Amino acid sequence: MRKTYSVTNDKELRHFIRFLPFYRSFLFRFLYFDVHINEEYNFVLPIVESLNIKSRKKRIVYIYNEAFSMIDSYFVGKDFCQFIDNVCLSHRENKTGKMNGCCRCCPYRSGGYCPTENIACKLFYCSSVKEKYEIIKFEDIILFRVLSPFQRMILKSDFFSSGEDVILDLYYGPFIAPIRIIYRFFKNYVYKKRK
Ligand code: SF4
Ligand code: SF4
Repeated sequence: MRKTYSVTNDKELRHFIRFLPFYRSFLFRFLYFDVHINEEYNFVLPIVESLNIKSRKKRIVYIYNEAFSMIDSYFVGKDFCQFIDNVCLSHRENKTGKMNGCCRCCPYRSGGYCPTENIACKLFYCSSVKEKYEIIKFEDIILFRVLSPFQRMILKSDFFSSGEDVILDLYYGPFIAPIRIIYRFFKNYVYKKRK
C-alpha cells in the first residue's frame, strides 16, 4: 500500500516530522511513503527513502551512511581544527604539548587519520573551535528524527568506536548496546594505559 504525504510549507513539515515516531513503527510496516514537496524541502527525501526501507538493519545503515555523507559535504573546504605539525588549534592555544587532537588516545587512529566513520566524533568540536565558528550540530540533521530517542543518544555519544560498531549498537538497542559500549570503553582504557 502507498500513501502520499504533502510537505509544501512549514506547517506540513512540522506535522510530518511530529508523526515520524508513528511512521517508523511496525504499524506502518506495510505502508510505502510518497511525498509531494516543494524544492526547498528536498531534505525530506532521505527521510522518506529511509521510511520505505522496512528492514530495521538496512534502514539504520541507510540513515547512518546518508547522514555521514551530508556531514562530510558540510565539512568540505573547512579546516576548523587547523592542525600544524600534528598539533591542533586547542592544544596550541592551551599549550598542552599534546599531539593528534581528540584522536590521540583512540585505538582506531592510524597514520595520523581516522580510518573509520564515526558520526559522534565527526560532529564533536571543543570550545576553542565552537567559540570561533558556527558548526553543524546533531540537531541540524533532521534525518536523525527517524531514529528512536535511544538510538539518537547512542549516535551522539558513541565516541572512539568504529562506524560498524556504532551501527551494531543502534541495531541491538537498549539491552545489548550498553554492554558493548562498556566493553569497548574498558578495551580502550587498557589500550590507553599501555601506550
Ligand atoms: S575539536 Fe578541538 S581538541 Fe579536538 S582536534 Fe579539533 S581543535 Fe583539537
Ligand atoms: S574513531 Fe573518533 S576518536 Fe577514533 S580516530 Fe576516529 S575520529 Fe578519532
